[in-house]
Amino acid sequence: MKEKIAELQFIAETWSPERVLEWAFDTFGNRVAISSAFGAEGMVLIDIASQLRPGFRLFTLDTGFLFPETYSLMRRVEQRYGVAIERVQPLLSPAEQERSHGAALWQRDPDSCCDLRKIEPLRRKLQDLDEWITSIRRDQTEARAGANKIEWDGKFNLVKINPIVDWTSEQVWRYIQSHHVPYNPLHDRAYPSIGCTHCTRAVAPGEDPRAGRWAGFAKKECGLHLIQPLSDLTA
Ligand code: SF4
Repeated sequence: MKEKIAELQFIAETWSPERVLEWAFDTFGNRVAISSAFGAEGMVLIDIASQLRPGFRLFTLDTGFLFPETYSLMRRVEQRYGVAIERVQPLLSPAEQERSHGAALWQRDPDSCCDLRKIEPLRRKLQDLDEWITSIRRDQTEARAGANKIEWDGKFNLVKINPIVDWTSEQVWRYIQSHHVPYNPLHDRAYPSIGCTHCTRAVAPGEDPRAGRWAGFAKKECGLHLIQPLSDLTA
């Protein structure tokens, strides 16, 4: 499979999001799922997927620290698109994490907190899949700049699909408006990127859209989206 992906990686760059998704659904059937935190990009992807494959699989990493607006949007997604979101929980409840790792771990060591509440649950979830689909865009962060529409995810050892990786934020919002896609109301309150309540704040005019994530730390990613160098694909 790694060799096939290495070939497709270049070819698929000209494919539309619809074609990328169709390839994913046709190739992996029920062993593929969309991963979403229900940001603007995720909502676009969910809307496109719903037109191609009703009943597609959709999962989220429910850290237990999401905004009420995010939980509310999740319920709306289930109703509008007729899907049952697979909620992946950390092994430790917030209270258990506090007992074993101390209070407010996210303030002292956000990498460890993300490992416990995002990375380990994702790793566990991906063991049940052959491929996962994300809504990352190349211009969101430095770490995402090298992402491809179809690639091998060497960190989690499966195929990774990023159908709107070459879209801009403007394209995302044009799609949302023209297709009347529901979105998180926090976006209208200066939250361009939304994660856990403890690690997300509104941004000021002119600030980087991701400046509100882990403010005060150099951290810009929770570690879910590390890009595998192409040279590793054929190794
Ligand atoms: S985003 Fe913050 S609260 Fe959420 S898992 Fe990471 S460090 Fe913990």
